Amino acid sequence: MRKKIKSFIKFFKGRIKERLLILLLLLPILTFILNLLFPLPDNKSYSKEIYSKDGTLLTAYLTEDDKWRMYCRIKDISPDLIKAIIYKEDKWFYWHFGFNPASIIRALFSNFIEGKRVSGASTITMQLARMLEPKERSYSNKIVELLRAVQIELYYPKDKILELYLSLLPYGGNIEGVKSASYLYFNQPPSRLSLAQSVALCVIPNNPNLYRIDKNSEGVIKERNHRLKYFQKAGTFGSADINDALTERLKPNRYPVKLTAPHFCNFINQNFSGREIYTSLDLSIQSKAENLLWNYVRRAYGRNITNGAVLVIKNDDLSVAAYCGSADFYDKNALGEVNGIRAVRSPGSTLKPFLFAQAFNSGAYTPKMKLLDIETDFNGYVPENFNLKFNGEVNLDFALINSLNVPAVSLLSSVGLNNFIALMEKGCFQTIIKDKNKLGLSIILGGCGVTLEELTRFYTIFPNGGKLYNLNYLKGNPVDEKPVEIFSESASYMISDILSQNKRPDLPNESGGYQIGSTKLPKIAWKTGTSYGKRDAWAIGFNPDYTIGVWMGNFDGKGSPYLSGAEMAVPLLFDLFNSIDYNPENKWFKKPDALLEREVCAETGLLPTRFCKSLTLDYFIENVTHNNLCNLYKETYINSDSTIEYCPDCLPEKYIKAAYPDYPPELELWFQENGIKYKRHPRHNPECEARYSGKGPVILSPSENFEYLVEEKSGEKILLRAAPDAGIRTHYWYVNDKFYEKSSAGKGIFFKPKKGKNKITCMDDKGRDKTILINVKYF
Ligand SMILES: [Zn+2]
Ligand SMILES: [Zn+2]
Repeated sequence: MRKKIKSFIKFFKGRIKERLLILLLLLPILTFILNLLFPLPDNKSYSKEIYSKDGTLLTAYLTEDDKWRMYCRIKDISPDLIKAIIYKEDKWFYWHFGFNPASIIRALFSNFIEGKRVSGASTITMQLARMLEPKERSYSNKIVELLRAVQIELYYPKDKILELYLSLLPYGGNIEGVKSASYLYFNQPPSRLSLAQSVALCVIPNNPNLYRIDKNSEGVIKERNHRLKYFQKAGTFGSADINDALTERLKPNRYPVKLTAPHFCNFINQNFSGREIYTSLDLSIQSKAENLLWNYVRRAYGRNITNGAVLVIKNDDLSVAAYCGSADFYDKNALGEVNGIRAVRSPGSTLKPFLFAQAFNSGAYTPKMKLLDIETDFNGYVPENFNLKFNGEVNLDFALINSLNVPAVSLLSSVGLNNFIALMEKGCFQTIIKDKNKLGLSIILGGCGVTLEELTRFYTIFPNGGKLYNLNYLKGNPVDEKPVEIFSESASYMISDILSQNKRPDLPNESGGYQIGSTKLPKIAWKTGTSYGKRDAWAIGFNPDYTIGVWMGNFDGKGSPYLSGAEMAVPLLFDLFNSIDYNPENKWFKKPDALLEREVCAETGLLPTRFCKSLTLDYFIENVTHNNLCNLYKETYINSDSTIEYCPDCLPEKYIKAAYPDYPPELELWFQENGIKYKRHPRHNPECEARYSGKGPVILSPSENFEYLVEEKSGEKILLRAAPDAGIRTHYWYVNDKFYEKSSAGKGIFFKPKKGKNKITCMDDKGRDKTILINVKYF
């Protein structure tokens, strides 16, 4: 040892200047090697924090080592607290390089010469080194700390060092850092701490297990006031401020970490990583939505409706403004922890607008065209309307506004089930994608599964000109640059227009239709839905600013006779719009340039011919919508008093020409059954020998090629019924080529089928026939 020291001295006794220079040159290399050998410990994890759009903490999560350790940014901490800490711990923090030689010498002097144990030689940086790598207190460890402090100073700017220090200060129990302490002891953000609270947080780390605010608030006050008086003497803070702070009380509390918008936070926590997540949630909208939902559900409780969910999306950036997964997260009986926004439910009629938009978008349909609304057998599927009534024939817009089921199913069968399912795939309806091979025409009446999130997001295509964007859950995220174009602007506008003509539940006007100027309530477009068995009530609405989805029901799947979209969900939807988006000017969408209006035949919605007497205005999309002429009326030959019709084969010398409507046989039958007068063809010339060349009977029941399941012992029979052409009186029925029975044209009769294939033939009194096959299985 002595030898070594001697040679060291000898080294310096030589050419001192040169050797010092070499040492100086070697120092950085030495530091570099030391740094590689002993990297800075980086073992602290921080609490994940979730914030609303305005920067309010929604919730935070324990770290992996079960600590409340929220990272402290300087800008988020009260300047009083930072000043108090620096003045108490390390006045020269911003000037030194990790250690303070003057205080070290003073401490050494005190320890050795005066025999006192004086602390205070530790700078904030050295204390940080100890917090990053806790060690026993000894002189050698103190030197390690000192080296570490230099290393930290080399690594980080001063503010970062201070942030780490503030984040790691101990506050008793599992609380670390001034931010966690501020939320857990004072229930407020660290930017809003008072001087008294700041100084309290500055003294607690001296002995965090003794000075627990929740257990020993008196002790904390005593220590705090001691420090306040010291600051008063030193002039660190204004004397008046200190006098106020001295009288401030300290509640012995420990608050739980709050959990605002719990379903939203859980969703964010599961789907997004990061230490501080600033979300799109708008707290003022969220709290309005929560209150309204809770009030509605509370009132519905007596009707066995125990839950609901609300999703509010801002249309311009697709940001999620409010997210209520259930009425009360903590209501165990109502399964409040289930997230109703992501639960798979039957959508009832809420998918209908997408089908109608698809029909308009293709150019094959317009709002004033007609669909049959008559009991119809779609290959064994016989849908009913909500009110169990039929309307014969309706416009598309009427069918959508009134949510008629038969027209929707027949439109779907015309658009094509696969085309509609492909549309749903574009809309990312996950359960529909999964089940697509099992779905039938009933999908349009809710025979499928969707979530409120999928549904509400897909509705945003209407206010967004037919484009589908990704939802934005984070604050300030740029709008999705590659939206999927689902429909044209024109098709979207037509749907918005039709859905805004719904009858408003909050207006006394019974005639239906929204009247601008009659009220200051916001104009919105909306659609309701009620699932089979009354298990789900839906209402999805939008205006230019927001799209809002509402669901009401029970998470255990129970139905209630009161559950209907119009009665349970629509009033809540309107209250939400009225409180979130007060829109006195009734802003609405601008009609796209490609969407034009034209006169069409009121009876068919097709372009009028000279026979069409009644006209109406209808939308059409330039260069997209068809230009089909109305084909309802056809000219025929009749006698002068319109009692006999002729065909070319029996045309006498004297005749006149007249136009008669050719309604579909089913509709004509419906007119007759419901006593509705219509312009009927006169009887065909009874003396005509020529075989009539009309369409012949149309078999309405049974369904062609359908497999019927019949219970063997039930004696169940199958209906035979056909729609006749004009002037036909009798139908003759044959089963398996044997005459069975005759019926008056259009009336039904029954027969008992045999097992296996049954051949059914219907012949009318003009001798025209139609044959179908059905398959019958007995069980
Ligand atoms: Zn016409
Ligand atoms: Zn004839």
